[in-house]
Amino acid sequence: MYGNSVGELLARAQRVIDRRDAQYMLGHLLGMSRASLIAHPDRVLCTSEAATYRDWINRRANGKPVAQVLGVREFYGRTFGIDEHVLIPRPETETLVEQALVRVSGQKRLHSAAGSRLSIFDLGTGSGAIAITLKLEVPDATVTGVDISTAALRRARANATTLNAAVTFVEGSWYSPLTDQRAHLIVANPPYVRRGDPHLTRGDLRFEPITALTDHSDDGLASIRAIVAGARQRLMPNGWLLIEHGYDQATSVRDLMTGAGLVDVESTRDLSGIERVTVGCRIDNASKPL
Ligand code: GLN
Repeated sequence: MYGNSVGELLARAQRVIDRRDAQYMLGHLLGMSRASLIAHPDRVLCTSEAATYRDWINRRANGKPVAQVLGVREFYGRTFGIDEHVLIPRPETETLVEQALVRVSGQKRLHSAAGSRLSIFDLGTGSGAIAITLKLEVPDATVTGVDISTAALRRARANATTLNAAVTFVEGSWYSPLTDQRAHLIVANPPYVRRGDPHLTRGDLRFEPITALTDHSDDGLASIRAIVAGARQRLMPNGWLLIEHGYDQATSVRDLMTGAGLVDVESTRDLSGIERVTVGCRIDNASKPL
């Protein structure tokens, strides 16, 4: 008979899954930090806790990402509900949020005199992590999240309700459901993995919605091209477009933005030192036609 102590359960889990994942999931179940798990190996779980943990370990051993097993993932200090219909929020996407917040300050300085509310679009919102975070960080902004997936929007709306964020979600492809509206900021973490990239058929990515990861284009840039192409028409004068992209796509995305007439185009590195987010500004120049 196997014991149900922290030490015994962890030892068994580590034979079939990554040690960190085993610790993280047990800590999540018991509300204990990794350090306190290690300090209290003799703590005994009740039968139902141990059964839940075994079930989680089995699902993780079968490949399911930890966020889907637990049904949650932390993003920017908040907990988002996650399921198989949405991309799991990644740490590098916090770089996109940070860059958006930097631009919010500039936009507020520019527009406060006009008294208009800051408007933000999040294209391909998925779990709503970006849109909801921006709404909670900038409560006086009007935030709209767009997604083509009904199931993703259901998840995003549930997250917005749980986190008490008044975000409007609309269904459709990129700009199409946003009739007649313009934003001060447009943010997007679109699918950007190349068609046939071996990562798509390996590891955790196998369990995430394929349409959130790749648009099946050879260079992975078809979605980004569509978003950049529509940006000037959808941005307020002096508004910013901010896009997350793949590790080797920064130069291409800068070229696309410059080619589309955006200015002050630049890329920012994520915490791993990879150019991950590229931004461009719609110039406020009445003599330049849209
Ligand atoms: N950064 C993700 C990955 O490489 C991809 C996310 C995306 O396509 N937007 O796993």
